[in-house]
Amino acid sequence: MSETPSTTKKLYIKTYGCQMNVYDSERMAEALGGSGYTEVSSPEEADMILLNTCHIREKAAEKVYSELGRYKDLKIANPDLKIGVAGCVAQAEGEEIMRRQPMVDLVVGPQSYHRLPELEAKAGHGQKALDTDFPEEDKFEKLKSRPKAKRAPAAFLTVQEGCDKFCAFCVVPYTRGAEVSRPVERVLDEARDLVERGVREITLLGQNVNAYHGAGEGGTWGLARLIRELATVDGLERIRFTTSHPNDMEDDLIAAHGDCDKLMPYLHLPVQSGSDKILKAMNRKHTAEEYLRLIERIRAARPDIAMSGDFIVGFPGETDQDFEDTMNLVREVGYGSAFSFKYSPRPGTPAAEKETKMVDPDVASERLHRLQTLITEQQHAFQDAMVGREVSVLFERKGRMPGQMVGKSEYLHAVHVTDDVAVGEIARVRIIESGPNSLGGVVLR
Ligand code: SAM
Ligand code: SF4
Repeated sequence: MSETPSTTKKLYIKTYGCQMNVYDSERMAEALGGSGYTEVSSPEEADMILLNTCHIREKAAEKVYSELGRYKDLKIANPDLKIGVAGCVAQAEGEEIMRRQPMVDLVVGPQSYHRLPELEAKAGHGQKALDTDFPEEDKFEKLKSRPKAKRAPAAFLTVQEGCDKFCAFCVVPYTRGAEVSRPVERVLDEARDLVERGVREITLLGQNVNAYHGAGEGGTWGLARLIRELATVDGLERIRFTTSHPNDMEDDLIAAHGDCDKLMPYLHLPVQSGSDKILKAMNRKHTAEEYLRLIERIRAARPDIAMSGDFIVGFPGETDQDFEDTMNLVREVGYGSAFSFKYSPRPGTPAAEKETKMVDPDVASERLHRLQTLITEQQHAFQDAMVGREVSVLFERKGRMPGQMVGKSEYLHAVHVTDDVAVGEIARVRIIESGPNSLGGVVLR
């Protein structure tokens, strides 16, 4: 029996936020494929618009409302158009979204997207559909296995969701719920499936991916064991994982960076601040020194590893000295790349409820600017140091220039060449130039 429905409706998905949302959007598109939808790249052509949202900072949440405002004319021109809001804003704000934007037909939280086809069937023409439950059933189990069509050579695979860490600033434990790991066999099945469809690199995803503890043969498996098992999958050449918490960097995971060839030498390990006082107020449960010693151990296992991180500046109570401690930590680590944000109070989180004085917004902006300047300098220094070196590149797509192909090095640098290489090919490349956001090279045959 064919799975292709007779009518084809058009779906436009706009994704905000983290890689987990990118993965979720793919799975939602696949789920709606069963209801006759195929994806399109502009909202004007769509029969359904779905915004997969992020609630991590206030700006991210507000963007959703301004984007919805832009669809008003489309909805007036086409009353059959269905508009849905998914993801963490949907989870956090629920019905409030429909009150603020009555043209929204459907609201679905991140734990319920397997129910999307039913909700889609119910919604429209004044009928509203809302699901922000944390259902008992496993959404991954309920979703059909993934379609067999060929796909890009690098893919995300969610192995763990939710978080039990409760950092004082963070909404994730409230929007994504408690930490849950997918069973080992399910992860392996999905990985094999992806490889059959042309995938050569998989990034394992989780809000706290290194806290992975999935049910496997003989008991509970940690992330290192899962990675080692994935490394035995023929055709899968590269493995990455993100995002990790320093307190869950177990010895076997550190060791895997040294002895598992398929595990790429790049690690995103957020620390948030270099001040112990602020780390304590953030409920991070580690000190700056412990983080630095951890990086020493990781570098002992894999000396060339590229480190990445996340930082928050202007957390309530952050003094000039606290901020200088952050700058010093960044200088000591030497990041290949890092993300930094101005603190944004999130309703319902402990930090937002406390009365600690907010940092003056101009001071916070100035600190963010200084931190970002330092991180950019480090990023460029790391990129420049690649010139003359040989790297391995997985080619993912054509570049913007004629004849150009673009891929990623093992250190996650974007690398472009003008040689004759195919999408999905992994080639040795000598780096010959370093640009602002990418490297140029020549393929070595
Ligand atoms: N689980 C990861 C961790 O522990 O670092 C990442 C979670 S979050 C999706 C990604 C980043 O957003 C965090 O590392 C943090 O730097 C930033 N972030 C989270 N809440 C924030 C807030 N209220 N204000 C500013 N930045 C925030
Ligand atoms: Fe949020 Fe990450 Fe802290 Fe969990 S560990 S509460 S996801 S910042």
